[in-house]
Amino acid sequence: MPAVTITSYNPADPDDLVAVVEEPGAEAVRAAVGRARAAQTGWLAAGAGARSAALGRIADAVEAHAEELTALIVREVGKPLAEARGEVARTAAIWRYYAQAPYAPSGAVHETAAGAGLLLTRRRPHGVAGLIAPWNFPLAIPTWKAAPALAVGNTVVLKPAPEATACALRLAELARAAGVSEDVFTVVPGGAEEGAALVDAADVVSFTGSTGVGRAVVRAATERGVPVQAELGGLNAALVLPDADIATAAAHVAAAIAGYAGQKCTATSRVIAVGAAYEPLREALVKALAAVDDTVCGPVVNSAARERLTLAVGSAVEAGASVLTGGGVPDRIGWFVEPTLLADVPAEHPLAREEFFGPIAVLHAAADLDEAIALANDTPHSLATSVHTRSLDVALAVADRLDAGMIRVNAPSSGVDFHLPFGGAKGAAHGDREQGQAALDFYTVGRTVSVLPGGGA
Ligand code: NAD
Repeated sequence: MPAVTITSYNPADPDDLVAVVEEPGAEAVRAAVGRARAAQTGWLAAGAGARSAALGRIADAVEAHAEELTALIVREVGKPLAEARGEVARTAAIWRYYAQAPYAPSGAVHETAAGAGLLLTRRRPHGVAGLIAPWNFPLAIPTWKAAPALAVGNTVVLKPAPEATACALRLAELARAAGVSEDVFTVVPGGAEEGAALVDAADVVSFTGSTGVGRAVVRAATERGVPVQAELGGLNAALVLPDADIATAAAHVAAAIAGYAGQKCTATSRVIAVGAAYEPLREALVKALAAVDDTVCGPVVNSAARERLTLAVGSAVEAGASVLTGGGVPDRIGWFVEPTLLADVPAEHPLAREEFFGPIAVLHAAADLDEAIALANDTPHSLATSVHTRSLDVALAVADRLDAGMIRVNAPSSGVDFHLPFGGAKGAAHGDREQGQAALDFYTVGRTVSVLPGGGA
């Protein structure tokens, strides 16, 4: 039987084959986890200084190869240049941020309830972290999983998305050149088979990707009794109030709809205009989206994604939706889709209920703030919501009432700060948060130690 291969193609130039590797299979994943488990004791015992220095060297290596990595992200996943450059800078910053973590306190000392002794807590690594990543942030997501896991003494086996194979393999090479051995940080390319094998073998599992796959990963890890976190898709809303600076709000919302062709889990796909905001926002947003060019939007990841998007727009129009801007596919090479805004999409149409992962949004009118919040909350995919208003009172009140993991006031829904906890609400996430201190907690488990006097002295 011929070997199964993993391929990744340039979304802007589908004849350009970026990576082709043989699929390693489930047994290779189990073997990689075995080697990582054997290496874990040594990695932990090397101490805080060694782990900190190693992570710092990876940050240096990413910075030293910034232009090359930027070009690879652009080529492999079609990310616009400025965003790719930003992702590389963020990747280095995340390695550097977690390079400090090995020195942080790992527990607390408590008084005994009675008598002599010492009570203390201590956080310890789980062992081998099995990390499963999507393709859309091909360096940043593997990094925000691997860096905290390594910092606290786990070893890592990462399975990237097939569409981002070359980026992940290059990151692994840089880690190796920075002196981190392959058994400490292994990248195993592959698809569902390798992902499932990793979930079956690792001591802690972190998954980012689509909702359906994520739910299966959570079930499998929970069945085995290993800790698991999953960050899934979002159906993110932007609420625009009549007192907002409409031009600025439209610019932010357009960026969140069309930036990187809407292929961010935090992209805006539902725009909810409250009361008198509707008319001016519609006009400003149509203008802003029509002005978006390739340096902002870029292609979608593959032909299947483009077909899914165009079919969805077609079926929404058949069901009564109107196209306010876009709606088509430009006549050019590459998997491009026009930034699109639709109105009058029936409430039950998939475009209004599911994540489509493209530069497409639906405009809704809400009579008042209560209706807008009810609309925003009417989804299980509650990852990020933006609120656009000049009233601090309204912003804070709305933030309390929104079912979303990330709430952004007067900013696009799609920004993320790596030093704060990140994750969705309701069905958009499972388990502990990623990033910031939260990630360090997830990749460790607490021990409580009671030390009593040995006596005889
Ligand atoms: P995907 O779910 O298709 O794949 C994600 C990863 O899971 C890939 O590495 C894939 O090979 C692997 N996989 C597939 N089947 C598997 C299985 N049965 N067992 C284990 N692993 C398996 O997602 P994608 O298309 O790569 O990425 C896009 C999705 O990711 C979107 O839904 C997006 O919203 C989501 N995403 C979420 C966040 C977040 O933090 N919430 C961030 C980025 C992307």
